[in-house]
Amino acid sequence: MHIAARSCVSALLACACFVAARAGTAASVAIVDVTVVDVAGGHDLPHRTVLVDGGRITAILRADGAHLPDGAERIDGRGRWLVPGLVDMHVHLFNTYSHRPPNAWALPLFVANGVTGVREMAANAASIAVLRQWRRETDAGERVAPRVLAAGIAGRAREPADAQAAVAAVAAAGADFVKVFSDVGAAQWQAILDAARARAIPVAGHVPASIALLDAAAQGQRTGEHLMQAYEACSSIEGVLLSERAGLAGEALVATRDAQEGRVLDAFDRATCRRIAHRLAASGQWQVPTLVLAWTEAHRGSAPHADPRWALLRADERERWTRILGEIAAHPDRLAQRRWQVSRAIVATWRRAGVPMMAGTDAPMPEVYPGFSLLDELERLVDAGLTPREALRTATLAPARFLGLEATSGTVAPGRRADLVLLAADPTRDIRNTRRIDAVLLGGRVLRRADLDALLQPPAMAARRTPR
Ligand SMILES: [Zn+2]
Repeated sequence: MHIAARSCVSALLACACFVAARAGTAASVAIVDVTVVDVAGGHDLPHRTVLVDGGRITAILRADGAHLPDGAERIDGRGRWLVPGLVDMHVHLFNTYSHRPPNAWALPLFVANGVTGVREMAANAASIAVLRQWRRETDAGERVAPRVLAAGIAGRAREPADAQAAVAAVAAAGADFVKVFSDVGAAQWQAILDAARARAIPVAGHVPASIALLDAAAQGQRTGEHLMQAYEACSSIEGVLLSERAGLAGEALVATRDAQEGRVLDAFDRATCRRIAHRLAASGQWQVPTLVLAWTEAHRGSAPHADPRWALLRADERERWTRILGEIAAHPDRLAQRRWQVSRAIVATWRRAGVPMMAGTDAPMPEVYPGFSLLDELERLVDAGLTPREALRTATLAPARFLGLEATSGTVAPGRRADLVLLAADPTRDIRNTRRIDAVLLGGRVLRRADLDALLQPPAMAARRTPR
Protein backbone atom coordinates (compact mmCIF):
# COMPACT_ATOMS: atom_id res chain seq x y z
CA MET A 1 0.00 0.00 0.00
CA HIS A 2 1.35 3.37 -0.95
CA ILE A 3 0.97 6.19 1.49
CA ALA A 4 0.24 8.78 -1.15
CA ALA A 5 -2.44 6.73 -2.84
CA ARG A 6 -4.97 7.60 -0.18
CA SER A 7 -3.60 10.99 0.56
CA CYS A 8 -5.66 14.09 1.05
CA VAL A 9 -2.55 16.22 1.06
CA SER A 10 -1.17 14.65 -2.08
CA ALA A 11 -4.53 14.64 -3.86
CA LEU A 12 -3.68 18.28 -4.48
CA LEU A 13 -0.64 17.22 -6.53
CA ALA A 14 -2.77 17.09 -9.62
CA CYS A 15 -3.27 20.85 -9.68
CA ALA A 16 0.36 21.72 -9.07
CA CYS A 17 1.06 22.49 -12.73
CA PHE A 18 1.33 25.91 -14.38
CA VAL A 19 2.78 27.25 -11.17
CA ALA A 20 5.42 29.20 -13.00
CA ALA A 21 3.00 30.86 -15.36
CA ARG A 22 0.86 32.10 -12.53
CA ALA A 23 3.89 33.12 -10.52
CA GLY A 24 4.85 35.50 -13.28
CA THR A 25 8.05 33.68 -14.22
CA ALA A 26 8.69 31.84 -17.47
CA ALA A 27 6.53 28.76 -17.82
CA SER A 28 9.09 27.35 -20.20
CA VAL A 29 12.65 26.76 -19.02
CA ALA A 30 15.70 25.31 -20.77
CA ILE A 31 18.69 24.10 -18.74
CA VAL A 32 21.33 24.06 -21.45
CA ASP A 33 24.28 21.66 -21.74
CA VAL A 34 24.13 20.15 -18.25
CA THR A 35 25.15 16.74 -16.88
CA VAL A 36 21.99 14.90 -15.83
CA VAL A 37 22.74 12.77 -12.77
CA ASP A 38 21.21 9.29 -12.83
CA VAL A 39 20.34 8.54 -9.20
CA ALA A 40 18.86 5.14 -10.13
CA GLY A 41 21.74 3.52 -11.96
CA GLY A 42 24.87 5.49 -12.58
CA HIS A 43 24.62 6.36 -16.24
CA ASP A 44 24.95 10.11 -15.97
CA LEU A 45 24.14 11.95 -19.18
CA PRO A 46 26.62 14.73 -20.04
CA HIS A 47 25.86 17.58 -22.44
CA ARG A 48 22.09 17.45 -22.22
CA THR A 49 19.52 20.19 -22.51
CA VAL A 50 16.58 19.72 -20.19
CA LEU A 51 13.31 21.35 -21.21
CA VAL A 52 10.68 22.25 -18.64
CA ASP A 53 7.16 23.41 -19.36
CA GLY A 54 4.09 23.75 -17.19
CA GLY A 55 6.05 22.65 -14.14
CA ARG A 56 7.18 19.35 -15.67
CA ILE A 57 10.22 18.06 -17.50
CA THR A 58 9.09 17.72 -21.10
CA ALA A 59 12.28 16.56 -22.84
CA ILE A 60 15.96 15.75 -22.33
CA LEU A 61 17.90 16.37 -25.56
CA ARG A 62 21.50 16.19 -26.68
CA ALA A 63 22.79 19.71 -26.17
CA ASP A 64 24.34 20.07 -29.61
CA GLY A 65 21.62 21.13 -31.98
CA ALA A 66 18.83 21.17 -29.39
CA HIS A 67 16.15 23.65 -30.39
CA LEU A 68 15.03 25.84 -27.50
CA PRO A 69 11.35 26.82 -27.40
CA ASP A 70 10.67 30.49 -28.08
CA GLY A 71 10.54 32.53 -24.91
CA ALA A 72 12.10 29.81 -22.75
CA GLU A 73 14.06 31.04 -19.74
CA ARG A 74 17.61 29.88 -20.40
CA ILE A 75 19.80 28.49 -17.62
CA ASP A 76 23.43 27.80 -18.45
CA GLY A 77 24.18 24.22 -17.41
CA ARG A 78 27.76 24.05 -18.68
CA GLY A 79 30.08 22.52 -16.10
CA ARG A 80 27.08 21.85 -13.85
CA TRP A 81 25.15 18.83 -12.59
CA LEU A 82 21.38 18.41 -12.38
CA VAL A 83 19.84 16.25 -9.65
CA PRO A 84 16.23 15.69 -8.57
CA GLY A 85 14.91 17.95 -5.81
CA LEU A 86 15.83 16.50 -2.43
CA VAL A 87 13.31 15.13 0.07
CA ASP A 88 13.60 15.20 3.86
CA MET A 89 11.51 12.27 5.08
CA HIS A 90 11.33 13.30 8.75
CA VAL A 91 10.48 16.91 9.60
CA HIS A 92 8.31 18.78 12.08
CA LEU A 93 6.50 21.77 10.61
CA PHE A 94 4.11 22.10 13.56
CA ASN A 95 4.33 22.78 17.25
CA THR A 96 1.23 20.86 18.16
CA TYR A 97 2.27 20.22 21.75
CA SER A 98 3.85 23.59 22.60
CA HIS A 99 0.95 25.60 21.12
CA ARG A 100 3.22 27.79 19.00
CA PRO A 101 2.50 28.86 15.41
CA PRO A 102 3.51 26.49 12.58
CA ASN A 103 7.16 26.57 11.50
CA ALA A 104 6.53 28.63 8.36
CA TRP A 105 9.97 30.18 8.98
CA ALA A 106 11.56 26.84 8.12
CA LEU A 107 9.98 26.50 4.66
CA PRO A 108 12.34 28.81 2.70
CA LEU A 109 15.36 27.26 4.45
CA PHE A 110 14.46 23.86 3.01
CA VAL A 111 14.17 25.23 -0.53
CA ALA A 112 17.39 27.27 -0.26
CA ASN A 113 19.16 23.96 0.44
CA GLY A 114 17.58 22.10 -2.48
CA VAL A 115 14.91 20.37 -0.39
CA THR A 116 11.76 20.48 -2.52
CA GLY A 117 9.76 17.85 -0.63
CA VAL A 118 9.24 16.84 3.00
CA ARG A 119 7.29 14.33 5.06
CA GLU A 120 5.60 15.81 8.13
CA MET A 121 5.77 13.56 11.18
CA ALA A 122 3.49 15.14 13.80
CA ALA A 123 0.52 17.00 12.41
CA ASN A 124 -3.03 17.33 13.71
CA ALA A 125 -6.34 18.18 12.07
CA ALA A 126 -5.61 21.92 12.13
CA SER A 127 -2.16 21.32 10.61
CA ILE A 128 -3.69 19.58 7.62
CA ALA A 129 -5.69 22.72 6.87
CA VAL A 130 -2.50 24.80 7.16
CA LEU A 131 -0.70 22.44 4.77
CA ARG A 132 -3.45 22.87 2.20
CA GLN A 133 -3.22 26.65 2.57
CA TRP A 134 0.58 26.54 2.09
CA ARG A 135 0.07 24.37 -0.99
CA ARG A 136 -2.34 26.90 -2.49
CA GLU A 137 0.03 29.78 -1.76
CA THR A 138 3.02 27.88 -3.18
CA ASP A 139 1.11 27.00 -6.35
CA ALA A 140 0.09 30.65 -6.73
CA GLY A 141 3.74 31.70 -6.47
CA GLU A 142 3.09 33.57 -3.23
CA ARG A 143 5.14 31.31 -0.98
CA VAL A 144 8.41 29.44 -1.42
CA ALA A 145 8.01 26.07 0.26
CA PRO A 146 8.76 22.42 -0.28
CA ARG A 147 5.80 20.18 -1.07
CA VAL A 148 4.54 18.21 1.89
CA LEU A 149 4.41 14.74 0.35
CA ALA A 150 2.80 13.05 3.32
CA ALA A 151 1.67 14.05 6.79
CA GLY A 152 1.15 11.82 9.80
CA ILE A 153 -0.94 12.29 12.92
CA ALA A 154 -0.22 10.45 16.17
CA GLY A 155 -2.51 7.55 17.01
CA ARG A 156 -2.82 7.59 20.80
CA ALA A 157 -4.58 4.74 22.58
CA ARG A 158 -4.43 4.53 26.36
CA GLU A 159 -6.03 1.09 26.19
CA PRO A 160 -6.20 -1.32 23.22
CA ALA A 161 -9.95 -0.67 23.13
CA ASP A 162 -9.24 2.99 22.32
CA ALA A 163 -7.35 2.15 19.15
CA GLN A 164 -10.36 2.03 16.81
CA ALA A 165 -11.46 5.54 17.74
CA ALA A 166 -7.90 6.90 17.68
CA VAL A 167 -7.24 5.57 14.18
CA ALA A 168 -10.66 6.74 12.96
CA ALA A 169 -9.84 10.25 14.19
CA VAL A 170 -6.47 10.26 12.42
CA ALA A 171 -8.09 9.14 9.18
CA ALA A 172 -10.93 11.64 9.48
CA ALA A 173 -8.45 14.47 9.98
CA GLY A 174 -6.97 13.71 6.56
CA ALA A 175 -3.60 12.26 7.59
CA ASP A 176 -1.67 10.04 5.21
CA PHE A 177 -0.47 7.75 7.97
CA VAL A 178 -0.84 6.98 11.65
CA LYS A 179 2.31 8.03 13.50
CA VAL A 180 3.39 5.87 16.42
CA PHE A 181 5.89 6.88 19.10
CA SER A 182 8.32 5.04 21.35
CA ASP A 183 5.99 5.01 24.36
CA VAL A 184 3.25 2.81 22.89
CA GLY A 185 2.72 -0.42 24.81
CA ALA A 186 2.75 -3.74 22.95
CA ALA A 187 -1.00 -4.40 23.23
CA GLN A 188 -1.93 -0.84 22.26
CA TRP A 189 0.46 -0.96 19.30
CA GLN A 190 -1.06 -4.21 18.04
CA ALA A 191 -4.56 -2.73 18.37
CA ILE A 192 -3.51 0.40 16.46
CA LEU A 193 -2.01 -1.72 13.69
CA ASP A 194 -5.17 -3.85 13.44
CA ALA A 195 -7.42 -0.80 13.37
CA ALA A 196 -5.25 0.91 10.77
CA ARG A 197 -5.18 -2.18 8.57
CA ALA A 198 -8.98 -2.30 8.65
CA ARG A 199 -9.05 1.30 7.39
CA ALA A 200 -6.19 0.78 4.91
CA ILE A 201 -4.18 3.59 6.47
CA PRO A 202 -0.46 2.91 6.98
CA VAL A 203 1.29 3.02 10.34
CA ALA A 204 4.76 4.59 10.44
CA GLY A 205 7.11 6.19 12.93
CA HIS A 206 9.20 5.06 15.86
CA VAL A 207 9.26 1.34 16.45
CA PRO A 208 7.84 1.39 20.01
CA ALA A 209 10.19 0.45 22.82
CA SER A 210 7.81 -2.43 23.60
CA ILE A 211 8.26 -4.15 20.20
CA ALA A 212 11.21 -5.92 18.59
CA LEU A 213 12.29 -4.29 15.33
CA LEU A 214 11.71 -7.41 13.23
CA ASP A 215 8.30 -7.97 14.81
CA ALA A 216 7.27 -4.41 13.92
CA ALA A 217 8.46 -5.01 10.37
CA ALA A 218 6.69 -8.37 10.14
CA GLN A 219 3.43 -6.89 11.43
CA GLY A 220 3.49 -4.19 8.76
CA GLN A 221 4.72 -1.00 10.40
CA ARG A 222 5.88 0.76 7.25
CA THR A 223 8.91 2.63 8.59
CA GLY A 224 11.36 2.58 11.44
CA GLU A 225 12.65 6.05 12.36
CA HIS A 226 15.77 7.19 14.26
CA LEU A 227 17.06 3.58 14.51
CA MET A 228 14.60 3.09 17.37
CA GLN A 229 14.80 -0.59 18.44
CA ALA A 230 17.59 -1.14 15.90
CA TYR A 231 20.18 -0.73 18.66
CA GLU A 232 18.41 -3.48 20.60
CA ALA A 233 17.99 -5.69 17.53
CA CYS A 234 21.71 -5.33 16.73
CA SER A 235 22.73 -6.24 20.28
CA SER A 236 23.27 -9.67 21.79
CA ILE A 237 20.71 -8.99 24.55
CA GLU A 238 17.52 -7.90 22.75
CA GLY A 239 15.38 -10.60 24.38
CA VAL A 240 16.57 -9.70 27.88
CA LEU A 241 15.96 -5.99 27.33
CA LEU A 242 12.46 -6.49 25.95
CA SER A 243 11.51 -8.89 28.75
CA GLU A 244 12.50 -6.18 31.25
CA ARG A 245 10.06 -3.85 29.47
CA ALA A 246 7.22 -6.39 29.29
CA GLY A 247 3.81 -4.95 30.12
CA LEU A 248 5.09 -1.36 30.27
CA ALA A 249 3.71 1.61 28.36
CA GLY A 250 4.00 5.39 28.40
CA GLU A 251 6.67 7.11 30.47
CA ALA A 252 7.58 3.97 32.39
CA LEU A 253 8.38 2.19 29.14
CA VAL A 254 10.57 4.99 27.81
CA ALA A 255 12.32 5.49 31.17
CA THR A 256 13.14 1.78 31.35
CA ARG A 257 14.48 1.84 27.80
CA ASP A 258 16.60 4.91 28.49
CA ALA A 259 18.05 3.34 31.62
CA GLN A 260 19.13 0.32 29.54
CA GLU A 261 20.93 2.35 26.89
CA GLY A 262 24.48 1.84 28.16
CA ARG A 263 23.96 -1.93 28.20
CA VAL A 264 22.42 -1.86 24.72
CA LEU A 265 25.32 0.03 23.19
CA ASP A 266 27.91 -2.14 24.96
CA ALA A 267 26.20 -5.26 23.63
CA PHE A 268 26.32 -4.20 19.96
CA ASP A 269 27.11 -7.33 17.98
CA ARG A 270 28.03 -7.12 14.32
CA ALA A 271 27.09 -10.73 13.48
CA THR A 272 23.65 -10.33 15.06
CA CYS A 273 23.21 -7.05 13.21
CA ARG A 274 24.07 -8.72 9.90
CA ARG A 275 21.53 -11.47 10.51
CA ILE A 276 18.85 -8.94 11.41
CA ALA A 277 19.73 -6.82 8.39
CA HIS A 278 19.00 -9.59 5.90
CA ARG A 279 15.60 -10.27 7.43
CA LEU A 280 14.87 -6.54 7.64
CA ALA A 281 15.76 -6.11 3.97
CA ALA A 282 13.24 -8.80 3.05
CA SER A 283 10.50 -7.42 5.31
CA GLY A 284 9.37 -4.43 3.26
CA GLN A 285 9.90 -1.98 6.12
CA TRP A 286 11.81 1.20 5.22
CA GLN A 287 14.33 2.80 7.55
CA VAL A 288 14.87 6.51 8.19
CA PRO A 289 18.00 6.47 10.37
CA THR A 290 18.27 10.28 10.92
CA LEU A 291 22.01 9.83 11.54
CA VAL A 292 22.34 13.60 11.76
CA LEU A 293 20.59 13.47 15.14
CA ALA A 294 23.07 11.02 16.65
CA TRP A 295 25.94 12.96 15.07
CA THR A 296 24.69 16.29 16.43
CA GLU A 297 24.30 14.85 19.93
CA ALA A 298 27.88 13.62 19.78
CA HIS A 299 29.28 16.91 18.45
CA ARG A 300 27.59 19.62 20.49
CA GLY A 301 29.41 22.92 20.46
CA SER A 302 29.40 25.19 23.48
CA ALA A 303 27.87 28.22 21.75
CA PRO A 304 25.06 27.31 19.36
CA HIS A 305 24.07 30.97 19.03
CA ALA A 306 27.52 31.65 17.52
CA ASP A 307 26.37 29.72 14.44
CA PRO A 308 25.53 32.28 11.73
CA ARG A 309 22.36 30.31 11.01
CA TRP A 310 21.05 31.04 14.51
CA ALA A 311 19.56 34.29 13.13
CA LEU A 312 17.44 32.24 10.71
CA LEU A 313 15.41 30.76 13.57
CA ARG A 314 12.21 32.42 14.67
CA ALA A 315 12.50 33.91 18.15
CA ASP A 316 10.29 31.29 19.82
CA GLU A 317 12.36 28.54 18.24
CA ARG A 318 15.57 30.13 19.55
CA GLU A 319 14.00 30.13 22.99
CA ARG A 320 13.13 26.46 22.67
CA TRP A 321 16.61 25.46 21.49
CA THR A 322 18.21 27.48 24.28
CA ARG A 323 16.03 25.80 26.88
CA ILE A 324 16.65 22.27 25.59
CA LEU A 325 20.39 22.82 25.08
CA GLY A 326 20.60 24.22 28.61
CA GLU A 327 19.01 21.05 29.96
CA ILE A 328 21.43 18.92 27.94
CA ALA A 329 24.44 20.91 29.19
CA ALA A 330 23.28 20.37 32.77
CA HIS A 331 23.18 16.61 32.18
CA PRO A 332 26.07 15.72 29.85
CA ASP A 333 25.24 12.66 27.78
CA ARG A 334 28.18 10.31 28.18
CA LEU A 335 26.57 7.86 25.79
CA ALA A 336 26.38 10.23 22.83
CA GLN A 337 29.76 9.31 21.33
CA ARG A 338 29.04 5.62 21.58
CA ARG A 339 25.53 6.07 20.14
CA TRP A 340 26.95 7.82 17.08
CA GLN A 341 29.53 5.07 16.53
CA VAL A 342 26.95 2.30 16.85
CA SER A 343 24.39 4.07 14.67
CA ARG A 344 26.99 4.39 11.94
CA ALA A 345 27.87 0.71 12.26
CA ILE A 346 24.21 -0.28 12.02
CA VAL A 347 23.64 1.75 8.86
CA ALA A 348 26.84 0.33 7.36
CA THR A 349 25.57 -3.19 8.03
CA TRP A 350 22.14 -2.43 6.64
CA ARG A 351 23.58 -0.89 3.53
CA ARG A 352 25.53 -4.06 2.76
CA ALA A 353 22.36 -6.14 3.24
CA GLY A 354 20.30 -3.88 0.98
CA VAL A 355 17.93 -2.55 3.64
CA PRO A 356 15.93 0.27 2.00
CA MET A 357 16.78 3.58 3.62
CA MET A 358 15.59 7.17 3.28
CA ALA A 359 17.14 10.45 4.34
CA GLY A 360 15.47 12.29 7.21
CA THR A 361 16.58 14.75 9.86
CA ASP A 362 13.97 15.48 12.56
CA ALA A 363 14.44 19.20 11.85
CA PRO A 364 14.07 21.53 13.67
CA MET A 365 15.47 19.62 16.64
CA PRO A 366 18.11 21.79 18.40
CA GLU A 367 21.05 22.42 16.06
CA VAL A 368 19.31 20.45 13.30
CA TYR A 369 18.70 23.35 10.91
CA PRO A 370 15.90 22.83 8.37
CA GLY A 371 17.31 22.18 4.90
CA PHE A 372 20.98 22.41 5.88
CA SER A 373 20.59 19.27 7.98
CA LEU A 374 19.37 17.19 5.03
CA LEU A 375 22.70 17.91 3.34
CA ASP A 376 24.38 16.97 6.64
CA GLU A 377 22.41 13.71 6.66
CA LEU A 378 23.68 12.83 3.18
CA GLU A 379 27.24 13.34 4.44
CA ARG A 380 26.59 11.19 7.50
CA LEU A 381 25.19 8.41 5.29
CA VAL A 382 28.42 8.54 3.30
CA ASP A 383 30.34 8.40 6.61
CA ALA A 384 28.41 5.17 7.21
CA GLY A 385 29.59 3.66 3.95
CA LEU A 386 27.01 4.65 1.36
CA THR A 387 28.44 5.86 -1.93
CA PRO A 388 27.54 9.47 -2.74
CA ARG A 389 25.10 8.21 -5.36
CA GLU A 390 23.45 5.85 -2.87
CA ALA A 391 23.16 8.72 -0.42
CA LEU A 392 21.55 10.89 -3.10
CA ARG A 393 19.11 8.08 -3.81
CA THR A 394 17.92 8.05 -0.18
CA ALA A 395 16.68 11.62 -0.68
CA THR A 396 15.29 11.27 -4.22
CA LEU A 397 14.29 7.97 -5.78
CA ALA A 398 13.83 6.10 -2.48
CA PRO A 399 11.21 8.51 -1.08
CA ALA A 400 9.45 8.58 -4.46
CA ARG A 401 9.24 4.78 -4.42
CA PHE A 402 8.13 4.62 -0.82
CA LEU A 403 5.42 7.22 -1.40
CA GLY A 404 4.24 5.71 -4.67
CA LEU A 405 5.29 8.83 -6.58
CA GLU A 406 7.90 7.25 -8.83
CA ALA A 407 6.00 8.17 -12.00
CA THR A 408 6.15 11.88 -11.18
CA SER A 409 9.24 12.42 -9.05
CA GLY A 410 12.53 11.05 -7.77
CA THR A 411 14.52 11.14 -11.02
CA VAL A 412 15.39 13.63 -13.76
CA ALA A 413 13.30 12.30 -16.64
CA PRO A 414 10.56 13.47 -19.01
CA GLY A 415 7.18 13.58 -17.30
CA ARG A 416 8.63 14.17 -13.84
CA ARG A 417 7.77 17.28 -11.89
CA ALA A 418 10.38 19.97 -12.38
CA ASP A 419 11.68 19.87 -8.81
CA LEU A 420 15.37 20.10 -9.60
CA VAL A 421 18.67 21.23 -8.14
CA LEU A 422 21.51 22.58 -10.30
CA LEU A 423 24.94 22.01 -8.73
CA ALA A 424 28.26 23.65 -9.53
CA ALA A 425 30.20 20.43 -8.88
CA ASP A 426 29.69 16.68 -9.24
CA PRO A 427 27.78 15.26 -6.22
CA THR A 428 28.64 11.67 -7.18
CA ARG A 429 32.34 12.41 -6.64
CA ASP A 430 31.89 14.20 -3.35
CA ILE A 431 28.54 14.37 -1.57
CA ARG A 432 29.52 17.76 -0.11
CA ASN A 433 29.03 19.15 -3.60
CA THR A 434 25.27 19.04 -2.90
CA ARG A 435 25.98 22.28 -0.99
CA ARG A 436 27.17 24.03 -4.14
CA ILE A 437 23.71 24.98 -5.33
CA ASP A 438 23.46 27.32 -8.34
CA ALA A 439 19.71 27.12 -8.78
CA VAL A 440 16.61 25.29 -7.61
CA LEU A 441 13.53 24.61 -9.70
CA LEU A 442 10.39 24.29 -7.62
CA GLY A 443 7.59 22.93 -9.77
CA GLY A 444 9.27 24.65 -12.72
CA ARG A 445 9.68 27.96 -10.92
CA VAL A 446 13.31 29.06 -11.22
CA LEU A 447 15.18 30.24 -8.12
CA ARG A 448 18.69 31.32 -8.99
CA ARG A 449 21.53 31.72 -6.50
CA ALA A 450 20.57 35.31 -5.66
CA ASP A 451 16.95 34.23 -5.08
CA LEU A 452 18.13 31.42 -2.80
CA ASP A 453 20.35 33.79 -0.84
CA ALA A 454 17.34 36.06 -0.38
CA LEU A 455 15.51 33.13 1.24
CA LEU A 456 18.21 32.86 3.90
CA GLN A 457 17.04 35.86 5.88
CA PRO A 458 15.90 36.13 9.50
CA PRO A 459 12.17 35.47 9.69
CA ALA A 460 10.14 38.65 9.55
CA MET A 461 7.37 37.35 11.72
CA ALA A 462 8.00 37.89 15.42
CA ALA A 463 7.27 35.08 17.83
CA ARG A 464 3.74 35.02 18.98
CA ARG A 465 1.90 32.54 21.06
CA THR A 466 -1.37 31.15 19.94
CA PRO A 467 -4.00 31.03 22.66
CA ARG A 468 -4.48 27.64 24.21
ZN1 LIG B 1 10.57 13.39 14.77
